[in-house]
This record gives sequence, C-alpha cells and structure tokens, in this order.
Amino acid sequence: MSRRNKAKGTCHLCGNFGALSFEHVPPRAAFNNRRIIKVTFEQAISLGPDEIVKGPIQQGGIGGHTLCPKCNNLTGHWYGTRFVGWCYQAMNILIRSHGKPSLIYLNYLFPLAILKQIVTMFFSVNTETFSKANPELVQFVLKREAKYLPPKYRFFMYYNTTGTFRFSGIWARLDPFSSRSTTLMSEITYPPFGYVMTIDSEPPDSRLFEITHFSTYDYNFGFSWRLQD
Ligand SMILES: [Zn+2]
Repeated sequence: MSRRNKAKGTCHLCGNFGALSFEHVPPRAAFNNRRIIKVTFEQAISLGPDEIVKGPIQQGGIGGHTLCPKCNNLTGHWYGTRFVGWCYQAMNILIRSHGKPSLIYLNYLFPLAILKQIVTMFFSVNTETFSKANPELVQFVLKREAKYLPPKYRFFMYYNTTGTFRFSGIWARLDPFSSRSTTLMSEITYPPFGYVMTIDSEPPDSRLFEITHFSTYDYNFGFSWRLQD
C-alpha cells in the first residue's frame, strides 16, 4: 500500500504529468505477486543478458511507478485479465513438461487484448519519451477496439524456461558486418514467456514466434493456438 500513488511524474502511456501508480510488470496476477529478488526497476531494465540478479528478497512483485492511475486501471481492466489467462495456461504446460515443452496448446486466447497488455508493458519498461515518439502505439493501447499497427512494429515471443527475468528498453544492436544494418529492439522476459518488440528491424533470432498478427483480431474474438517448439 505504501508504494502506491506515492510518486509524481509523467505517465509513460498518456504523457500526463501527475500522480503515478505502481504498475506491476507483468500484471500482479501473472505470477508477479510472490517473493522475488529485490532489484529496483531501474536496475532490472539495465541488466545485461547474462547478469545474475542479486539482492534481498522482497514480497509483492516487480514493477515501477510508470503509469497514471487512469491508464493503470484502464489497461488492467481491458487487457490484464485476458493476459493473465494466457500466462496461466502456458505456465501450467511448462510445469507439466518440466520446462521442456515440445508443443503448447493454448485454449481460447484473446489475441488483441494479450498483445495490448504486452505493448502496455513495453511502455512501462521504456522511458516516458517512448510514447511521444510512438503515438500510433499509444492509440493502439488507449483505444480498446483499435486494430492493426504500422508495419514497422513487430512483436515476438518465446518460452522462458529458465525462470529468470529481465527488462530492457529500446536499444540498438549493430551488425558488425554491415554499417547499415541495426536492430532496434526492446525485451521483457518473465516466466512463462519472453517478449521482443522490434521497430523497423528484422527479428534478432529466428526461433522467436511472431505475434504481430494478434493486432488484426477484434477485441472479443478468441481462438485456440498450437505452438511447436
Ligand atoms: Zn496515463
């Protein structure tokens, strides 16, 4: 309770200045409510791929004061529950397969809401300037029924079978063999899945599952999805 509504700042989504609420990344109900290693959100988003997280254990989950109460409530209400449903199904399969899934069958997903929750999380792990630079993404999240994204935005997922977490804001990866080829990407990984967003870039790894097409479904359209590892 003490860490709610304490901070003031610019909302990473709507850009308004005022009170900020504590946004769990991922949502609290998606396994982000248990004891975790305590690192600050700022430390977490700057961790390198192979860095090991050290620190005291804290209750309550990871996140930061990144969204105003209105954006926090609205995205949680519209997208959070559907996102949590997808995480629960996948976690169940990961546990039953001892972390080595060869096939995942996800039953009755709501792809548009899931993608919008993922985009909301990318706003939280990036700085407040990200919303100014990407107004189409802001509208995609703040309008519940909005579909489709400009083709420069692509989203991918993978199984997180290692149990670690990492958040990284947009960074550029340079191709050492070509001065023109860079990858602009941001990543969130927290069991059961990791997510990658790329902007005007090819995916950094061919084993990622692309989920950009989740933006083409109606808000209330659900389907079942089979994933082969
Ligand atoms: Zn806001």
